[in-house]
Amino acid sequence: MSDEKATVFIVEDSKTGVAALRSALSDEFRIESALSVHEALAAIPEVNPDLILLDVVMPEMDGFEVCRRLKEDPAIDGTPIVFVTAMESVEDEARGLEMGAADYITKPINPLIVRARVRNLIQLKRYRDRLLNLSAIDGLTGIANRRRYDEQFDSSWRQAYRRWEPLSLLMVDIDAFKAYNDNYGHLAGDECIKKVASLLKGMARRPGDFVARYGGEEFSCILAETDIHGAREYAHLLLEGISGLGIPHAFSPAAGVVTASIGVATVIPRDQMAPEELLEAADSALYEAKRTGRNKFCVSNFT
Ligand code: GH3
Ligand code: MG
Ligand code: MG
Ligand code: MG
Repeated sequence: MSDEKATVFIVEDSKTGVAALRSALSDEFRIESALSVHEALAAIPEVNPDLILLDVVMPEMDGFEVCRRLKEDPAIDGTPIVFVTAMESVEDEARGLEMGAADYITKPINPLIVRARVRNLIQLKRYRDRLLNLSAIDGLTGIANRRRYDEQFDSSWRQAYRRWEPLSLLMVDIDAFKAYNDNYGHLAGDECIKKVASLLKGMARRPGDFVARYGGEEFSCILAETDIHGAREYAHLLLEGISGLGIPHAFSPAAGVVTASIGVATVIPRDQMAPEELLEAADSALYEAKRTGRNKFCVSNFT
């Protein structure tokens, strides 16, 4: 668990309210605050706090509505929100908890209790983050797994659609890998998969590049803001990189070393187009590369 101070974001329209919370928490946590809802809604996604303390009664919008809006953002949905209120109403408390608030504290605050509750909730949040992170990583190679890939593909697709930008997808499949396993053993096969994975990961240098283990000896690269020329260039470099690892494979019909075949597809997402079409296009290009000799890439004519 990280030793870095966790960040608590306080949303509270009264300056004295902020000051009271700040003094209860600032020894142990990094504090950010906003005095208005609009300021808070703009700042919270940037700050990405570990916990949010939210006043229920504010002039522009009540805390319940703020909570609802914050929870719409999947990146914030996992952040505990604690309501702070002077109202000691059971209905309010129930409503807040039903909306997914993590806890409820009443004003005037007791600094010891606030601190202890915040500390407990942040610890839980950190465990949750670690589990989420583990569940997104492939155990053998340490790169993103299929589950994480599905999420990333979805968000890259939506971003490309919004920005009217090309999105490229490369499906990479190691050649004659069954023969590799059969002849060199499964453990050597695992080592080979790991080496290819770390090469692919090392080649994903731009912020929009993403690599995952799609399954077995197959990998997938998502290249945001990349047109067909960029994707070809990338596929070419991948092929060079993989054969350049120089992993002997005397039983491959493609070369004396481990190689891969790649299917490439690029699209500018439009209405009425399903994301799966891009995947299918890359897949058939991969099939074409296998069929026509391996250790090569083919480009889908899909546009
Ligand atoms: P092609 O050139 O057409 O791609 O043929 P191939 O032999 O690579 O493809 P095939 O789908 O027949 O075999 C893939 C092999 O990959 C079979 C499977 O046992 C092996 N494999 C899948 N996952 C792992 C893994 O995690 N470790 C090891 N060692 N082998 C794996
Ligand atoms: Mg208030
Ligand atoms: Mg395969
Ligand atoms: Mg294969």
